Amino acid sequence: MNDKHLLFSIGNKENKKFIVLVGIHGNEKQGIVAAQRVIEKLKNHPDKINGKIYFLLGNLRALERNERFVDVDLNRIFHDSNLTKNGEHGYDYKEFQEIHRLISEKICQHHYENCVLLDLHTFSADSGIFCIPANNEKSFKLAQNFGVPFIEKLASSLPETALHYYGEKGMTSVVFEGGQHDDPKSAELIEAAIWVALKYEGLIDSEDFPFVSEMHQKLLKASENLPHHLELIYRHKLEDYHRFKMKEGYQNFKTIGKEEVLASQNGQTITSPVEGLILMPLYQEKGSDGFFIVRKKKQKTNKS
Ligand SMILES: [Zn+2]
Repeated sequence: MNDKHLLFSIGNKENKKFIVLVGIHGNEKQGIVAAQRVIEKLKNHPDKINGKIYFLLGNLRALERNERFVDVDLNRIFHDSNLTKNGEHGYDYKEFQEIHRLISEKICQHHYENCVLLDLHTFSADSGIFCIPANNEKSFKLAQNFGVPFIEKLASSLPETALHYYGEKGMTSVVFEGGQHDDPKSAELIEAAIWVALKYEGLIDSEDFPFVSEMHQKLLKASENLPHHLELIYRHKLEDYHRFKMKEGYQNFKTIGKEEVLASQNGQTITSPVEGLILMPLYQEKGSDGFFIVRKKKQKTNKS
């Protein structure tokens, strides 16, 4: 397979395919560091993999430039209607088309039900790891297994992400957000997440990779004081003409009150419409969301 988005692949049996996607945002390099560490360890045991594992690079030109995207956010254009758009619409459309061709034709061969996507990210705020399942049961179970906060209803509010696009096609699809962009700790936690997910999905065994339980402990430790099960209640979406400036001092899962002043935007004050916990407050120039608000999910025995 000759494809510039394919960083590495290993394994033989074609029963299950596991895709690790890094760098869909070009300024998020810790995922690549993590992927390379996993690749080095997997290389020692090529015959111990039950299925096939693929490591994919996202936005190549944005990665070179160390910027979130080139013309438009690649992780907001995963949609069938964008499969035929040409370069005039922006460089990033070509990246979407190439990545999609690789995933749909070469890797999954249109059998999405046998494929798992773990899409790895970091964020600009200070701390607070979490994950986001696509809107299906398999994704929900994988997300829950990490033992870190997982956010329901967020995937559906971001319909043109890789997460949601492949989740809707029947894939097990989860985003893992491993920490701040430039923090080396983020690479450690992302590496842990890859191992834990590979084991949960049956691609590897803990007998062959005994350090996986230690990796899982790292994830649990990093999120021991964070709420576990949450749901989205508000998204502060940004348009191109918005000049958004988040107030200093917010980090993931910080409690906020109703009417609390959170940011300024084109000279206006932005307050919180509801009380809750803040998620992904934007502390970088590029981004299509200013912040999200989540709340703890009430414990119920029957699923709603
Ligand atoms: Zn990202």
